[in-house]
Amino acid sequence: MQEKKMDRDILPSVGRFAPSPTGRMHLGNIFCALLSWLSAKSKGGKWLLRIEDIDAGRSRQEYADWLMDDLAWLGLEWDGEPVYQSQRSEIYECYFERLKQQGLTYPCYCTRADLLATQAPHESDGRVVYRGTCRHLPPQAGRAAATRLIVPDEEIHFTDGHYGDHSVNLAQQVGDFIIRRKDGAWAYQLVVVIDDALMGVTEVVRGRDLLLSSPQQLYVARLFGFPSPQFVHLPLLCNVQGQRLSKRDQSLDMESLRQRSTAPQLIGLLACMAGLLPSPEAITASELLPLFSWEHVPCQDVMVKDLSC
Ligand code: GLU
Ligand code: ZN
Repeated sequence: MQEKKMDRDILPSVGRFAPSPTGRMHLGNIFCALLSWLSAKSKGGKWLLRIEDIDAGRSRQEYADWLMDDLAWLGLEWDGEPVYQSQRSEIYECYFERLKQQGLTYPCYCTRADLLATQAPHESDGRVVYRGTCRHLPPQAGRAAATRLIVPDEEIHFTDGHYGDHSVNLAQQVGDFIIRRKDGAWAYQLVVVIDDALMGVTEVVRGRDLLLSSPQQLYVARLFGFPSPQFVHLPLLCNVQGQRLSKRDQSLDMESLRQRSTAPQLIGLLACMAGLLPSPEAITASELLPLFSWEHVPCQDVMVKDLSC
């Protein structure tokens, strides 16, 4: 065990930011960008950018251009060329086929209404579990189907770098999950794993809304024989109503933030929310590097009352 840990410490750390270009970034997105950048760069590592544009209906190049402009404005430079998921379909196809050939998948014909009628909310976290309705159906030629991955009835353990130990039984708490949508689009849970592995990502920093996706992703990684990245989840930024910040909170999107503040002011505000500064003084991302430590970052969600901290 000891040896393994040392290996991990010696290996260069590779972090990443993986936004979906479906709108202008907001404060919550750049909080995540800053912390994943600080985490990778404070260890002398690389920080990669992946544009998660698999949802063709919602993604736009214009938003991808804006998000790169916003990251550059903030002083968060990424290493290498950005990777676009929309250009990697052949790679995904090849991994998808492997799962199919191993008999680990099946078509699911359920409509949204079917799912609502058969799913029961999981008692502890309100999530819904797919009951395996289509698992034993004979294939129905000509009917559009999503593809689900069969999950094992066993506990998957992992230790989040910020929220500690977790154990999830995928069969009981999630159910067989979708890896390709009915319209042929790739599912996030499949491609995120393939891309993180192929890009050599060792550390995944993202909002804690994805904490419970981690066991699904660890399972997919295990099926392909990929090493598991270290997951480090972040508290969410919430508005005064206690709801997670979203694209609806327009006063906190980058368009509005860039009109009202300078990049160092905004970095200072984020640093204060992350517990890295006692008050929101202006500071650059590079100047923050020596002050960064996960120990200062809260586990509780952070409430944002306009541009104060
Ligand atoms: N595109 C995903 C999102 O923006 C990325 C999730 C992840 O970092 O794994 O929510
Ligand atoms: Zn089904």
